Amino acid sequence: MIKKIGVLTSGGDAPGMNAAVAGVIRAANAKGIEVYGIRDGYKGLINGWFEKVDIDFAQEILTRGGTRLGSARLPEFKEESVRQIGVDNLKKAGIEALVVCGGDGSYMGAQRLTEMGINCVGLPGTIDNDIVSSDYTIGFDTALNTIIEAIDRIRDTMQSHNRAAVVEVMGNHCGDLALYAGTTTGCEVISTSESKLTEEEICEQVKVLAKKGKRSVIVLVTENLYDSNALAKKVEEKSGYVTRATILGHTQRGGIPTGMDRYLAVTSAIYAVDQLAAGKGGVYVGLDGNKLVARDINSTLNMPRKDKSQELSTIRLLNSQFKK
Ligand code: ADP
Repeated sequence: MIKKIGVLTSGGDAPGMNAAVAGVIRAANAKGIEVYGIRDGYKGLINGWFEKVDIDFAQEILTRGGTRLGSARLPEFKEESVRQIGVDNLKKAGIEALVVCGGDGSYMGAQRLTEMGINCVGLPGTIDNDIVSSDYTIGFDTALNTIIEAIDRIRDTMQSHNRAAVVEVMGNHCGDLALYAGTTTGCEVISTSESKLTEEEICEQVKVLAKKGKRSVIVLVTENLYDSNALAKKVEEKSGYVTRATILGHTQRGGIPTGMDRYLAVTSAIYAVDQLAAGKGGVYVGLDGNKLVARDINSTLNMPRKDKSQELSTIRLLNSQFKK
């Protein structure tokens, strides 16, 4: 049985990463396994930034936003010679296996480390919900609720002043934050990476609603698709609504994790420690239906994303209906 494991958070931070680390510590301690927190992801691995973490630390961080261990990006980790420094550091410290909480990129690192003799298990930590092999990721629910609150507030003022708004949300190349937020706040126009509307289509849809006399319109878009400020100007010109853009930005990354994110984080962490204790590595823990599963990282990296375009079409249609 292994005696010492490490845990790190890597890539973009997500609410619930702390709960994942807390879950790892508690589950490992219960099996008599010591846990070392590795600061700033793979950067800390190659710099030997390890600290022993205990159940008091777990209690302290469980409910907090951000990641107390810190996160970083280290592109050089793709090079075997750089990873070897990390492997040597772990061996020197007697750390036999690792839990890595992050996204697809971090999983690649975890897979490579496993091939170099350090068993790694990945946990899906990202607000974007862009890990295809898990139905939900740790941080998605919190970010979604942050977006919902922001849109509800924007709606109040748009409705008061008979205006339109363009709201830009995160998601990287995944439209789930926009799809779920648009569905739950009734945004009239939604454009995501997987189902992108042209600027002309957006303007036309808003114009139709303006002509019918709709009091307020919210255009919800995923990041990296448009210049949202320029888009707002075009919408204003074409529709006649005074239109402003709100780019929600990093507010979506922070904040106290929701119950669902904490639950997913802690239960996945327990499952991850079970995997390591059973001598497994090169796997990630994901949610499939309501069930946690452990799948080979290699076999899932190129899995196609679930097609949600039909769902989005239905919502677009329903959200653009209104009674004058
Ligand atoms: P995320 O984990 O959120 O997808 P990144 O794509 O930035 O975020 O990846 C996080 C880190 O994982 C990178 O900074 C790098 O250290 C490591 N990484 C990414 N791709 C690879 C790879 N192909 N091989 C080894 N390590 C990788």
